[in-house]
Amino acid sequence: FYILVILFAQMFFSLFCRTILCRPRSLYSELERAISNHEFVPYAQPIMNATTKELVGLEILMRWEHPVHGLVRPDMFIPQAERSGLIIPMTDLILKETAKQLRLYKHALPAPFHVGVNIAPQHCNSTVLSEECQRFISEVADNKIVLVLELTEREALEVSDFTHGLFQQLKSLGCKIAIDDFGTGHSSLVNLQKIDLNYLKIDQIFVKNIGIDNTSELLIDTTVEMAKRLSLSIIAEGVETEAQAEYLQKQGVDFLQGFLFSKPIPLEEFLQNHALKLEKQ
Ligand code: C2E
Ligand code: MG
Ligand code: MG
Ligand code: MG
Repeated sequence: FYILVILFAQMFFSLFCRTILCRPRSLYSELERAISNHEFVPYAQPIMNATTKELVGLEILMRWEHPVHGLVRPDMFIPQAERSGLIIPMTDLILKETAKQLRLYKHALPAPFHVGVNIAPQHCNSTVLSEECQRFISEVADNKIVLVLELTEREALEVSDFTHGLFQQLKSLGCKIAIDDFGTGHSSLVNLQKIDLNYLKIDQIFVKNIGIDNTSELLIDTTVEMAKRLSLSIIAEGVETEAQAEYLQKQGVDFLQGFLFSKPIPLEEFLQNHALKLEKQ
């Protein structure tokens, strides 16, 4: 009986170690290793003018090219990267690579060309972000490329004096600010007003329910009206069907993003394809 108890205790202990202790720690060291190995790469998804369906910009989405596990999606590693602060050097890598690629293909891009980059809550309390943005702007060396910082709603919640100053500085550099996943967090309008916003991105949850759920449509319509009154441009995310695109355009949404136009693909491939298409025209 005692042997059984000891065995169970051991099993429980090792299970506890693996799930609670070891896994996050090993992910942490994996992330550290991957940073020095430059395994984080920028993928890109186009953003289109809702009326003309012309390309106006793109969003950079991070992917992990893991030597063993292959392509890893952000949900698997961004939360841990944000909690540990490693998101800062990871974003640094992504911004450097993005600037390098854009510089090579800038002749083929329309003006202005918006480049959305997702930033983490940690960036809002650090001076690193404005240094990185400054470097990005000087590296692409083309003022038709506009850097848009995408902040998800939950991060916009607490706007400290520091954050307020940081955003003012970023704006003076020429960056624009977008609120991502709008409608899924708890931002009050008072808080949103504190940041001088440019874009509002309607979350894909609402877009998915167009034609299915009246409440989602109502929320879209109200959001669009509010955004217009605040002079914000609106981007709808997760557009997968022509019917959704048409509905959103009719309601006054300015820009569309989603699988209807393209899935995220490697930035380099995206820029190459785009340049080739222009040459053929
Ligand atoms: P997000 O910024 O809201 O990005 C949009 C997500 O929706 C992307 O997922 C994109 O692939 C997906 N998506 C786009 N169009 C469609 C569509 O038509 N249908 C569906 N079902 N999905 C669509 P992804 O690439 O997996 O990224 C997930 C989230 O991870 C992002 O959400 C963003 O919050 C975060 N993330 C991605 N890259 C970065 C990064 O570099 N830094 C930080 N801090 N977070 C990042
Ligand atoms: Mg985003
Ligand atoms: Mg989003
Ligand atoms: Mg999201």
